[in-house]
Amino acid sequence: MSTSANDSIDVDAFVDKLSDREKAMLGSGAAFWVTKEIGGLPRVVLEDGPHGVRHQSGDTDHMGIAPSDPATCFPPATALAQTWDPELLERVGEALGREARAFGTDVLLGPGVNIKRDPRCGRNFEYFSEDPVLSGHLGAAWVTGLQRQGAGASVKHFAANNQELNRMRVSADIDERPLREIFLRSFERVVRNARPWTVMAAYNKLNGVAATENEWLLTRVLREDWGYDGLVVSDWGAVGNRVAATRAGLDLQMPGGDVSADEDVIEAVQRGEIDRDVLTARARRVVQLAKRADEARRAHPNTVVDHNAHHGLAREVASRAIVLLKNDGDLLPLSTDKSIAVVGPFASEARIQGGGSSRVVPTRVDVPFDELRSAAPEAALSFAPGYRFDGGDQEALTAEAVALAETAHAALVFIGLTAAEEAEGTDRVDIDIPPHQIELLRAVANVQPRTVAVIVHGGVVRLAEVAELVPAVVDASILGQAGGGAIADVIFGAVNPSGRLAETVPLRLEDAPSFPTYPGDQLHSRYGEGILVGYRGYDFLNRDVAFPFGHGLSYTRFGYADADATASGERMQVSVTVTNEGERDGREVVQVYLSKPDSAVQRAPRELRAFRAVEIAAGEEMTVALDISRSDLAYWDIQLHRWVVEGGTYQVHVGASSRDIRATVTVEIEGDDVIRPFTEESTIGELLANPTAAKVIAGALQRSGRGESAVASNELGIDANKSAMRIPVGRIRSLSGGTAMPKEKLTQLLEAVNAALR
Ligand code: BGC
Repeated sequence: MSTSANDSIDVDAFVDKLSDREKAMLGSGAAFWVTKEIGGLPRVVLEDGPHGVRHQSGDTDHMGIAPSDPATCFPPATALAQTWDPELLERVGEALGREARAFGTDVLLGPGVNIKRDPRCGRNFEYFSEDPVLSGHLGAAWVTGLQRQGAGASVKHFAANNQELNRMRVSADIDERPLREIFLRSFERVVRNARPWTVMAAYNKLNGVAATENEWLLTRVLREDWGYDGLVVSDWGAVGNRVAATRAGLDLQMPGGDVSADEDVIEAVQRGEIDRDVLTARARRVVQLAKRADEARRAHPNTVVDHNAHHGLAREVASRAIVLLKNDGDLLPLSTDKSIAVVGPFASEARIQGGGSSRVVPTRVDVPFDELRSAAPEAALSFAPGYRFDGGDQEALTAEAVALAETAHAALVFIGLTAAEEAEGTDRVDIDIPPHQIELLRAVANVQPRTVAVIVHGGVVRLAEVAELVPAVVDASILGQAGGGAIADVIFGAVNPSGRLAETVPLRLEDAPSFPTYPGDQLHSRYGEGILVGYRGYDFLNRDVAFPFGHGLSYTRFGYADADATASGERMQVSVTVTNEGERDGREVVQVYLSKPDSAVQRAPRELRAFRAVEIAAGEEMTVALDISRSDLAYWDIQLHRWVVEGGTYQVHVGASSRDIRATVTVEIEGDDVIRPFTEESTIGELLANPTAAKVIAGALQRSGRGESAVASNELGIDANKSAMRIPVGRIRSLSGGTAMPKEKLTQLLEAVNAALR
């Protein structure tokens, strides 16, 4: 076959020569992380992912239990998202691509672009945001960077894998509109804009059908609507029925080794249950992937990783991911020459990531306490654990920390969750920080007014009480291997914080829009909040929150002026002048939310449509331009089953968070030319409100010698009976006791109306 060392693979020729059996065999891997080398086809190595390469040269597993070779542990997605900076994520993607290539990893299993629907999902640390626009832009940038360096991405987990509880059997039951607008939208953007080499089909079911066997998802939407031409791989162990999966659109079952599934496919082909063309199309994707990987290997030979540089990038990103949630009286940054009591085991043992398949063995780890000390050698830093993860004498631990804090100039108290408390495969039952940690914080704050809480966590935690106790709160998320240094950078002001929340922090878990319907009943999780996911829901329900989506403070202040929005053709342009009104250089994340209060369909009060992170020197101003494509204005219409841009006036809110809107302007948008056929369900009022339809009806009724006064006069603006206007035309007959509008006549009339509309 045509795969000698220097030849590029001729996909057509290669596939032509494969037998049915070989094609079926290509549909599953050879081993845990590799595809088969049938007929000389080079194997493809697919490995986790996403925030570092988990290359296992020894034992293999999909839960991060067996060891892997050291690789840079970049900040996980939850932290990456808090930078709101696609360009930065592209650089992270590139670095990951280099590391992947150096290991011989052809496909890095990420990014995870699932929406953070409920705060309890144990894997939210691996996902970007509750918002699909933010998740989609960031995911696309990450994939672009990665693939530029010759490693493929695997966008996961497609789709609606929004809870870990029962993840291998739960059905995410989602209506068409939220599915398209929220849960598929991030995937759609990544697929369309960044063309990932692979898409990973999830464990769960979607509307009752396993994602791996879901033809609507894998073929109708992914291939036909979005034009995807890469390979669909299963999540590890997500295939229950390979025959159904093959028919639906799955190309590759992973991990490898399930020989009986290959046999099932072969038999199904022989029985005519799988079309030969379908089998060929699936095998072709595997060959295409092998060709892509082969070419990338040749284009990026001998990739050498500069681990120091990558550690530096990890630190830069981590420092940009930290969110300054509260900073009363400008307590932060702390001066570098005073005494500081540092409290909490998260300061002495860095927590860098979450648990499960994404767990990377880092090349090195910056410990926050050590980094604080080296950033402020003049400061007298002392340490007390304050509490222990495994219990201990809490009273004594508290007394020690309090004594230290009391005499210091300021205290830094690290609290939060351990990797064991939020990991793949399980969900949390609450969003609380362990109560003994809160009590410790209270005790320290009682004696030390300059107490800063540093929060370490992957998923969202309840912060209302924390924010009441102390004047300053720093969201240190989970920041990867260089997080310790990044924390020091922000605490002492070497970096002016610019992170913004990518997920709302509610006052209480019960306030979450998903709360009433998570985790569902009898293995069905009905997404009852519809499109009102995350901030969309908190805003719609007018619920107070601890910290809103998009929130984050700075050591400087930014003023907004001269907001403007214009629309023409395929784009809407928004601009605003942002001034750094403080004394420090800083970075602002300008956010644009749209609303349409008079919309014909339900809308969230505000929806993120564009954002831009900009660096502005102290005292300087900058005109920030943001661009929104027309397709981002559309909603998913459930009558027409397509995207529709509604015409009319839109409000454009420009702000520093979803609840810190600095300016609102309006813009007129021309709507899509939509023909919405009238049916028997259409009301008399709806028909009469449409001039074309009203004319046809008036004409028809006049011809039949009736109705002139009722219909035609209404057309002339004479008030008609309001309740009659609400009656569906299909009911006129029964309401009239069978005398008016016989079925046949109605059908003719509707046909005439719809013909006139076309
Ligand atoms: C996870 C995937 C991961 C795969 C391979 C699965 O358990 O859901 O995200 O890529 O294992 O480790």
